[in-house]
Amino acid sequence: MPHPFIDALKNNDLDAVKALTKTDLHNHSILGARVERVEAWKACPIPRPPDKMNGVRGMMDYAGSTLYPYLHSQEGFEFTADAAIQDAIEDGVSLLETSVDVKFAFLYSDRVHGLHQFLSSLLDRYQDCITVHVEMGFSRGDSEERLDMAYQCIETAFFTGIDLYGDQTLIKPYIDLAQAAKQVGMSVKAHVGEHDHAELIRPTVEAYELDGIQHGIRAVESPELPAFLEADTRFIITGPGL
Ligand SMILES: [Zn+2]
Repeated sequence: MPHPFIDALKNNDLDAVKALTKTDLHNHSILGARVERVEAWKACPIPRPPDKMNGVRGMMDYAGSTLYPYLHSQEGFEFTADAAIQDAIEDGVSLLETSVDVKFAFLYSDRVHGLHQFLSSLLDRYQDCITVHVEMGFSRGDSEERLDMAYQCIETAFFTGIDLYGDQTLIKPYIDLAQAAKQVGMSVKAHVGEHDHAELIRPTVEAYELDGIQHGIRAVESPELPAFLEADTRFIITGPGL
């Protein structure tokens, strides 16, 4: 049976990868935008990442120093969120699941309502080209004010799921949030076992009744985790990344 996508990856043939219709089950909205678009918009050069990143921390440092300064405004957020969807379309993605952090609600005077309105209009703009599921991103350890925003996001019934990231050791404090999302039919995913804390994968899965693990690649280092995860057909484990 032919596997053109696998063959394209093996051959490092990006044009062939782009040409295939595909699903992208995880990106972080604005961070899905190509740097060239931001560069053209701001009309100034943005340094490219080093050939070899110093782990996930190095990747975060790069994004923090080069990209984030342009994104912490309503204009910057909306430009890059839009650009990320355009890039997904150009990459041949027909279904995109994307996390949008609740912190972006603070860019709007009417907070969650303003964010919701923008995201709705964004999906409407591209609905003929791509299906986008917007998940509410929340960083574990973030402020009580942002946690309150997260509950307000759940009440909008707009977000298809929640995506928990941040401090992976903080499991218990967010069980209520996960349950609130589940009660209204949202999926619950979490970043865990991405670059460390493989031992937290199973407790996180069980505490939140996860529908998906973001990245989670350290699971392969455990003798029993792959079988545990494989036994639950709900699971989606997204690949290496941010
Ligand atoms: Zn991620």
